[in-house]
Amino acid sequence: MTVYGGIEAGGSKWECAIGTGPDDLRATTTLPTTTPAETIDRTVAFFEREGPVDAIGIGSFGPLDGNLASPTWGYITTTPKPGWAQTDFGREIKRRLDVPVAFDTDVNAAALGEHRWGAARGLDTSCYITVGTGIGGGGMVGGKLMHGLLHPEFGHMRIPHDRDADPFPGVCPYHGDCWEGLASGRAIEARWGKPAAELSNDEAWDLEARYLALGIVCVICPSPVASASSSSRWRSTPTSSAILARTCGCAARRLPARAGPPATASYSPASAAL
Ligand SMILES: [Zn+2]
Repeated sequence: MTVYGGIEAGGSKWECAIGTGPDDLRATTTLPTTTPAETIDRTVAFFEREGPVDAIGIGSFGPLDGNLASPTWGYITTTPKPGWAQTDFGREIKRRLDVPVAFDTDVNAAALGEHRWGAARGLDTSCYITVGTGIGGGGMVGGKLMHGLLHPEFGHMRIPHDRDADPFPGVCPYHGDCWEGLASGRAIEARWGKPAAELSNDEAWDLEARYLALGIVCVICPSPVASASSSSRWRSTPTSSAILARTCGCAARRLPARAGPPATASYSPASAAL
């Protein structure tokens, strides 16, 4: 049976796993994201120690170059994370472990996991959105992960912003009040002075539900069959049902929106990368 390795490369930690699928994880580890050389060294050491593996899937923070025809395929490119811009990551793993490597964004890896094992099983067109420190998204069209000029940047879509009702300028360094600028965890903390996990006032969550719904309506306008969303730290808040209600309300005049249970992501990019 083929044994795969999976790497979820995040800005603060890397999750590595070995197995044949999410129900057969034979070894896992969590590594802090330090310098590129040190983090990649520790990752390679894990696979050498716990392997061998036949192939590796990587879901990484970006921006990155996932174009197989590009001379910089496998690179993390223009990230503002100190020390990580133009890091040769995918090729380095491939060189040192000498196995085939698939390299994509963490959110596309998660979208693939939802397609294979989760909320989007049986569907060939779907989107995956994650709301955490930032807002990101990936997806599949016709059974293939979304790729184009770049990878999808759902978090930087513009959404309606009533500055009279909400004068907060947003936190995106590029656009100010894009979706991520208004509704990410970073935006919540800047607007209300405390992190989302500690926030309990109805006004804050009502505004958050409104902004998330406005963004989700933009995502579903191109008509994916399903949208899966993930915001694990916020699942205990009343926001999930509020977002669903508002999304259906916004979309119903034009789109045949069907209100089902909120599609909640179940698979981390690390296991999805397998
Ligand atoms: Zn932006």
